[in-house]
Amino acid sequence: MLTVNAIAAPSATDPLVRTTIERRDLGPRDVLIEIRYAGICHSDIHTVRGEWGPVPYPLTVGHEIVGRVTEVGSGVTRHAVGDRVGVGCMVNSCRKCANCLAGQEQYCAEGNVGTYGSVDRDGTVTQGGYSTHVVVDEDFVLRVPENIPYEAAAPLLCAGITTYSPLAHWNAGPGKKVAVVGMGGLGHMAVKIAVAMGAEVTVLSQTLSKKDDGLAFGAKDYYATSDPATFETLANRFDLIVNTVSAPIDINAYFRLLALDGTLISVGAPPEPLPVQVFALFGNRRSFAGSMIGGIAETQEMLDFCAEHGIAPEIELIDADAVNAAYERVLKSDVRYRFVIDVDSLR
Ligand SMILES: [Zn+2]
Ligand SMILES: [Zn+2]
Repeated sequence: MLTVNAIAAPSATDPLVRTTIERRDLGPRDVLIEIRYAGICHSDIHTVRGEWGPVPYPLTVGHEIVGRVTEVGSGVTRHAVGDRVGVGCMVNSCRKCANCLAGQEQYCAEGNVGTYGSVDRDGTVTQGGYSTHVVVDEDFVLRVPENIPYEAAAPLLCAGITTYSPLAHWNAGPGKKVAVVGMGGLGHMAVKIAVAMGAEVTVLSQTLSKKDDGLAFGAKDYYATSDPATFETLANRFDLIVNTVSAPIDINAYFRLLALDGTLISVGAPPEPLPVQVFALFGNRRSFAGSMIGGIAETQEMLDFCAEHGIAPEIELIDADAVNAAYERVLKSDVRYRFVIDVDSLR
C-alpha cells in the first residue's frame, strides 16, 4: 500500500479536509500516476453532499486528473514512466459485455467503475483525484498530448468528453446548426469543440454576461434565454441542441427550436424529472436524448482532437486549501470556466 496526501469529504455537511488515503500496490497491469492537476466538476459537489445517493465517507472525489507516470506494473505495454497521462470518470469495467467490447465502457452492462465512490473489481472503494497519486489499470489511462497546456488539460477528462461524445455521435460539423444551452464548464467546451468540428454554433445562456467570451470561443450567435423573443427568433432553427444545464428548464420551449429531425441531447442532470410535452416532439420529428461521458477510445480521440485544433478549457488554478470556497463559487456559477487544483499544494 502507498499512503498519499489527499483532501476528503468527512460527511455530507462538513467541509473537505486534508488527510491521507491508501493506494493499492501496483498490479501487473497498473500504472502509478503522480497527479499534477485535478479539475473540479459539479458532479464532485453533488456526490460529496450526498445528493446523488449514499456515499462511502470519508471520500476523496475528483475525476479530471492529469499527471505523469512514475511507475508501471510488469505487464504494462501502453504507458511508460515519464508519460503525461490522464484519468477521467471511470477506472474499470467488465470488459466482456457487448458495450465494453464495442468500446462503450461508460455504458458497461455491469456498470462502469467510477473513479471515486465505486467498488472496484478488487473490492476496494475507489478514491478520486484530489490527491497526489493514483493507481489505475493501464486500459483506463489516457495519453495527454504535450501541446495541450498542462494545467488546462484536466477538465477535458470529464467536461471535454461529455460534450465531445454527443457532438461526434450526432455528427456536428460543416452545414450543421448547433445550439449550446448554458455557458459553464461543460457549455464553454461544447462551444469550442463544436466550432472546431466546423458547425455553426449558437449559445443560449440565461443572460448576455458571457457573450464576449462565447463569441471569442467561436460562436456565431449568442442569445439570452431570459428574453422570450429568443424562442420566437430561433424557432425550428437547430439540428442539434446540447443542453449542459443541470437546473430544471422549460425543456419544451427548447424542443421547438429544433429543425426537421433535430435532436436535443441533455448532458446536464437536473435532480427532478422534467415534464415533456410529446406534442413539442411531434413537429419536425424531433428527438430527445441523453449522453454520458464517452468510451476510452473516444476519450483518446477527443484529447487528440483538442491537441490538433489547439483548444483547451479556460481555467482558474487554485490551491487545495481553496477547494471549499471554490465549491461555493461553482454553485453560484461564479467561475470562468473550470476550477483546477494545483496538486503541488498537497505535497
Ligand atoms: Zn465530471
Ligand atoms: Zn461491460
